[in-house]
Amino acid sequence: LVASLEQVEQTYIMVKPDGVQRGLVGEIISRFERKGFKLTGLKLFQCPKELAEEHYKDLKTKSFYPTLIDYITSGPVVCMVWEGVGVVASARKLIGSTNPLQAEPGTIRGDLAVQTGRNVVHGSDSPENGKRETGTLNGTLFGLRSLSLNHGKKK
Ligand code: ADP
Ligand code: MG
Repeated sequence: LVASLEQVEQTYIMVKPDGVQRGLVGEIISRFERKGFKLTGLKLFQCPKELAEEHYKDLKTKSFYPTLIDYITSGPVVCMVWEGVGVVASARKLIGSTNPLQAEPGTIRGDLAVQTGRNVVHGSDSPENGKRETGTLNGTLFGLRSLSLNHGKKK
């Protein structure tokens, strides 16, 4: 009852270049599917430097920022929109802490990664950033269009 009163949200999930190279795309998608969220946008994408800088603009002053931009642009990423009640916070829980050594077992980073600079997946940190990153607020950041598919239901 409580959940049904909450808002359906969208979050931007991105399998980072190491996740794609290591063949973890299916594993990561599977975890969000099994949880019960809905995939409404998906594409394989080589992120240009300017877009990586826009995506991570809040971290511009950090010492690791240049390394982060090199990492994210080092190979193709898989860009996704996932939809559901509470999906933004829940996806962050499924992903686990930024430092994979501190991420709990059972989380994506806790199970599949070791280094902060190779932590396989990104997830929006707030509903606002979910909107920004999925492109429903300020245009199409990653050129993704959420389809809001009907998944087998008749229109
Ligand atoms: P999160 O991805 O968990 O939201 P942040 O937004 O703080 O984490 O950082 C964005 C990304 O920058 C991280 O996922 C990670 O790839 C990278 N990063 C963060 N902190 C460091 C660090 N100390 N050294 C190297 N890379 C880092
Ligand atoms: Mg973040």
